[in-house]
Amino acid sequence: MNRHQVCVRGLILCGLLLLLGCKEAPSSALPELKVSGPTMGTHYAVKVVGDYPGGEPQLQHEVEQILQRIDHQLSTYKPDSELSRFNQHQATTPVEISQDLADVLIEGLRVGKMTGGAMDITVGPLVNLWGFGPDKRPTKIPSEQQIAAARLRTGLDKLHVEIGSDKATVRKDIPDLYVDLSTLGEGYAADQVAAWLDGRGIKNYMVEIAGALRLKGHNGQGDLWRIAVEKPGDELGQVQNVLTPGDNGISTAGSYRNYYELDGQRFSHIIDPATGKPLTHKLVSVTVIAPSALYTDALDTGLMVMGADKALIFANEHNLPIYTLTKTDDGFKVRFSRAFAAYQPKP
Ligand code: ADP
Ligand code: MG
Repeated sequence: MNRHQVCVRGLILCGLLLLLGCKEAPSSALPELKVSGPTMGTHYAVKVVGDYPGGEPQLQHEVEQILQRIDHQLSTYKPDSELSRFNQHQATTPVEISQDLADVLIEGLRVGKMTGGAMDITVGPLVNLWGFGPDKRPTKIPSEQQIAAARLRTGLDKLHVEIGSDKATVRKDIPDLYVDLSTLGEGYAADQVAAWLDGRGIKNYMVEIAGALRLKGHNGQGDLWRIAVEKPGDELGQVQNVLTPGDNGISTAGSYRNYYELDGQRFSHIIDPATGKPLTHKLVSVTVIAPSALYTDALDTGLMVMGADKALIFANEHNLPIYTLTKTDDGFKVRFSRAFAAYQPKP
């Protein structure tokens, strides 16, 4: 067996966006309150500029309560989460769900259909077959029959969410449909923390949940938040490009950090639902900017699956700012959509 995992520092849902270090603070600088910690098998960080009632301990407490609530709703790693209970529900009868879970499922289905099924929240059986879900890594490459059998258990058209006046429900057409929200859950969490801070009247913040970000206003030095897109490679923290996304969400999907090697082949954790196999093309990362991090986090995966050419056509059709990195023989090629130019920092 030739198998090793190159998911650096145990980050399973590794963030690909890094915050740039602070410049030396001018005298007019405002303090930045910073809290961070583990969440959903990965890491979060929140910065708030100026005061926060109760200071950092209170900010941390409130943020972690939101994250714990979402983890308990969306995790496929927790057998007793709301989503896991729906996945375990081996029947086609409707299941009552929280508004939060309904919102994420509806957005997942919407973006899924928009991308022609390239992003597919029912892709779980294939993710697990290839060893990127809660199940163990395979010790040999799955056979075509196994892939075909897993594909029969997928399909966006087999999942139905209904929002009634007093409750939301979800049902599946086949009892063993399995929903995986890993690819957009962090974006949703970033939006929820941002909404909480908005509700508290905070005007300047940065929220990062596993590489899905929401930004507002400016940093402690009064500058727009600057975000660095990481240069792909096994070395962490190399900067490829610096962006100023403004009051938006931003996230990156990449095939270069979370992968394993088996029988001399490299398998990334993003699966093309059309083939049932991990991606093999040379697009290594896609960064998307939009008001909602739930949307960017759902879309970045779909764009990764499309490959650079199709992703850029799609982005230009939808007036969407995206930034792509493609592997070349001697490095990486940068290509971005027309709408992206506005987010390059002014010199
Ligand atoms: P990361 O932040 O680690 O790059 P992503 O947001 O790109 O994570 O999501 C990757 C995860 O999404 C995979 O680990 C898998 O659980 C799931 N996934 C893989 N392929 C797809 C797909 N085509 N559509 C939806 N989810 C997918
Ligand atoms: Mg994603």
